[in-house]
Amino acid sequence: MNIEVIHLGPMANCTYLVTQDGNALLIDPAWDMNALEQTLKAKKLNLLAVLFTHGHFDHVKTAETLLKAHGLRAYIEENDVLLSGLPGEVLQPYHGEQNLQIGPFKVHIIPTPGHTAGGVCILIGDALFTGDTLFPGACGRVDLPSSDPREMRKSLYRLSQLPDDTQIFAGHSYGGKSGSFISYERQTNPFMRNAIKDKDIL
Ligand SMILES: [Zn+2]
Repeated sequence: MNIEVIHLGPMANCTYLVTQDGNALLIDPAWDMNALEQTLKAKKLNLLAVLFTHGHFDHVKTAETLLKAHGLRAYIEENDVLLSGLPGEVLQPYHGEQNLQIGPFKVHIIPTPGHTAGGVCILIGDALFTGDTLFPGACGRVDLPSSDPREMRKSLYRLSQLPDDTQIFAGHSYGGKSGSFISYERQTNPFMRNAIKDKDIL
């Protein structure tokens, strides 16, 4: 399995291209569908599925074009469907924890509300796509309309229990950095450390 980060748009968003044997998944395709189509074509990839970590516009913007062109419906947690503003015909809503087999990819979806009500992290092998839940040294904003700081703490605790070598791929490259490891965040991320410290009173 290969993972490529594609930086698109003016908000340091990260779209992830996950590939294996000519098959591809896209996580949070947004902003520039032409660039993504060109990448798929140049690499001769068969796009099997699109998954959104959450419904904020900067993670889904213009994805409708790509979904329609490929006849796909994007996986999205049902609590973020309205937030996404995307038409129902291009969405595949689900609720709760999921195990999906998509071609050669075993995908485990972990609900991680807090930044938004329908936010999730997407685990494929030991790669964890954290959207705006967990960033290197930080977590996502919890002051937005569908945010919930208490849920965020619970979600960060849940992520802290994943194996040490779980590799993190965040939804933005704030400060130029979008990658880390759970072991490192568990030791150094003040938000995750607080979530662990407060786990019994959450
Ligand atoms: Zn967001």
